[in-house]
Amino acid sequence: MSYDVVVVGGGPAGLNAALVSGRQRREVLLLDSGEPRNAPAAEMHMFLSRDGASPAELRRIGREQLAAYPSVEIREALVVTAAEEENGFTLTLSDGTTVTGRKLVLATGQVDVLDQVEGVGELFGRGVYHCPFCHGWETRGMTIAVLGRELPQIMQALYIADRFSDDVVVCTDGHAVPEQAAGRLAAAGIAVDETPVSRIEGKEGELRLVMTDGRVLERQAVYHRAPTRQHSALAEQLGCEMLPDGCIRVNEFQRTSVPGVYAAGDAARLEVLPDALTFVITGAADGARAAVWLDQELFREDAGLGG
Ligand SMILES: Cc1cc2nc3c(=O)[nH]c(=O)nc-3n(C[C@H](O)[C@H](O)[C@H](O)COP(=O)(O)OP(=O)(O)OC[C@H]3O[C@@H](n4cnc5c(N)ncnc54)[C@H](O)[C@@H]3O)c2cc1C
Repeated sequence: MSYDVVVVGGGPAGLNAALVSGRQRREVLLLDSGEPRNAPAAEMHMFLSRDGASPAELRRIGREQLAAYPSVEIREALVVTAAEEENGFTLTLSDGTTVTGRKLVLATGQVDVLDQVEGVGELFGRGVYHCPFCHGWETRGMTIAVLGRELPQIMQALYIADRFSDDVVVCTDGHAVPEQAAGRLAAAGIAVDETPVSRIEGKEGELRLVMTDGRVLERQAVYHRAPTRQHSALAEQLGCEMLPDGCIRVNEFQRTSVPGVYAAGDAARLEVLPDALTFVITGAADGARAAVWLDQELFREDAGLGG
């Protein structure tokens, strides 16, 4: 059987794409390998009606609600390859089976690369955070360290000091901050510690940054804006145009540069934005947009109305 739509990724973006498509009576297959980006976090925020719910709960409710739509099938599966065919796309799963669909939604997300400082991987989302929109409120009034010396981390430290904490230290991992940035940090009352951090230990709310010179910096929260990478190589395999930051380039319709391939959520962004907007609610909105426009594309194709 060939599906109208194959959605790869069962996070908020993929689940919402499947929901909107299923409600339009499209034959939908959702394939998910079960490793969402926010899995380490106990709570998610900024999603109206679900503020403070666990990420797993949102996914559970999403799947439960999809069960009401008989044309939506969900499979736990890792997609390893994707290729364009004459009338759509063929995906190969890790067990060797193949599936085909007329349109494809890549909602495969991003992965945070957390190998810079020992201990960060274990504490990520539980004491070490990446984003003050997601966790700023929860860390208000805390003693905070920000890891990094580049402009994005300096901006993050200034932002946190402006909004959430009057005790912020920037840990620059052995590097001096540029003179101009140093002036801005000093003016905001932010301390700079240039000694490399050898590891972070402790637990949520009680962290110890162990420096290479043996000193220990005690902090209640750490912000670490880690590099990210695509969770899957499918977009590149299909030849989708990528932006310099590694996101899949999409337009206002969530269309990639490859006809028939849509992308939604953290994996993709509009070029016009200065940065990726990687939130649960915006991912779900992207999924809805992709589903609406691909539905219209299918409808026009079948009615002979042109693209
Ligand atoms: C620690 C942490 C806390 C966060 N807290 C918040 C918060 O409070 N509020 C908020 O709005 N945002 C938060 N975020 C951001 C949020 O996690 C993302 O914006 C959101 O998960 C993006 O949804 P998505 O559907 O694009 O991707 P994801 O939720 O990452 O889902 C992608 C899915 O695709 C699957 N997948 C990937 N490749 C394949 C493949 N080849 N085959 C099959 N399946 C595949 C993955 O297993 C995964 O299940 C947080 C992020 C982190 C890291």
